[in-house]
Amino acid sequence: MNVLITGAGIAGPAAALALSKAGITCEVAEARPGDDGDDDGTGAFLTLTANGQDALHAIDADQPVLDASFPARRLRIFSPDGRQLADAPLGHDHPCPRTITRAALSRALRRQAADHGIPVRHGKRLVTAGTGPGGTVTATFADGTQASADLLIGADGIHSPVRTLIDPGAPAPRYTGLLIACGYASHPAAQASADGYDMYYGNKAFFGCTTGPDQRTWWFARIPQPEPAATGTGDPDQIARAYDDDATPAAAIIRHTRGPVTTTSARDIACLPRWSNGAMIVIGDAAHAASPSTTQGASLAIEDAVILAQCLRDIPAIPGALTAFEQLRRDRVERVARSGASGENPVPSMGRPRKADAGESVFAHHIDWSATRRP
Ligand SMILES: Cc1cc2nc3c(=O)[nH]c(=O)nc-3n(C[C@H](O)[C@H](O)[C@H](O)COP(=O)(O)OP(=O)(O)OC[C@H]3O[C@@H](n4cnc5c(N)ncnc54)[C@H](O)[C@@H]3O)c2cc1C
Repeated sequence: MNVLITGAGIAGPAAALALSKAGITCEVAEARPGDDGDDDGTGAFLTLTANGQDALHAIDADQPVLDASFPARRLRIFSPDGRQLADAPLGHDHPCPRTITRAALSRALRRQAADHGIPVRHGKRLVTAGTGPGGTVTATFADGTQASADLLIGADGIHSPVRTLIDPGAPAPRYTGLLIACGYASHPAAQASADGYDMYYGNKAFFGCTTGPDQRTWWFARIPQPEPAATGTGDPDQIARAYDDDATPAAAIIRHTRGPVTTTSARDIACLPRWSNGAMIVIGDAAHAASPSTTQGASLAIEDAVILAQCLRDIPAIPGALTAFEQLRRDRVERVARSGASGENPVPSMGRPRKADAGESVFAHHIDWSATRRP
């Protein structure tokens, strides 16, 4: 079997590593031109929770990610008037969440793929794909080149072209009503908790921060906003105004930001009716984007990658493997997406068991690589 993966964000290189471990030949085609400077600001930094770390461990890909990230060992929660409401240790039942820039996570996975000899081709923007009589998929890229494979995995993110190739009527991503901003503040007055996250419920908006190994305060803001804005960079002073009525350090931290403030309008795809068509399948955000407020998008994308590779390893015919994958995944990922769908700021869940599957917390999800996946 020969697999073509489009997208070298998180799900793509994780799928390549998992397929390689399963003995399946694959290559990755990424739209962006190069390996460097490829942080488009999407999810400027994120937390990788225990389930994401577990999925990486299943394919022996966790150590470089652990090395490029840092742990959050406690979670403090504050009210708009600055009162501390909670101080909870993290990592009791599961490993601590890890903070990492999205770019560093992607890079750590891509480098491992390259180390395994898996081709990761940049500047390959998929524009269309079709299935030939023998079931072979041929993908056409914007540069006019083509590539053929037995299976096309669309790991091409929330605006996935593969999703619409599978189903032209697929729902478009939905704006959840939150503007997410991320930045890095370097003034000592803006120092956040060094060993965990400080989360502030403001009168108008939610704010969270931690201190990175670079001694800067890594912060994010979630601001309710009726209309989506273009993804890009924001003005710190304008973002800080959402916190000016609060007796918390949020506004000061934002105003002490050096460098760009990344802004994204949070979108989700709560339920995609068709994930596959027998020769193409979508995984990660392309299939089931969850609002960043769930802190689960990257972890679920990695889980997808590993479980799809197991299905392709264990179930002889590709269509059967794709069906089995969907049966294993749909309920869990849709529950997580629903938990962040309200557009409100949910109580931070990084350290608490939030029920996503009956009887199992989101974080406790464990993948046993040696377990056989059956139709
Ligand atoms: C502000 C913000 C904060 C977040 N915080 C968290 C968090 O704390 N925890 C968490 O787990 N998740 C978080 N997320 C979500 C997380 O970033 C995503 O869920 C994750 O990146 C999904 O991975 P993916 O590989 O499916 O898609 P992506 O990471 O988006 O990767 C898709 C790749 O496909 C490529 N591509 C697109 N079109 C094509 C094409 N036509 N041809 C070839 N390649 C193509 C893109 O260039 C990209 O490299 C956050 C997201 C945002 C926006």
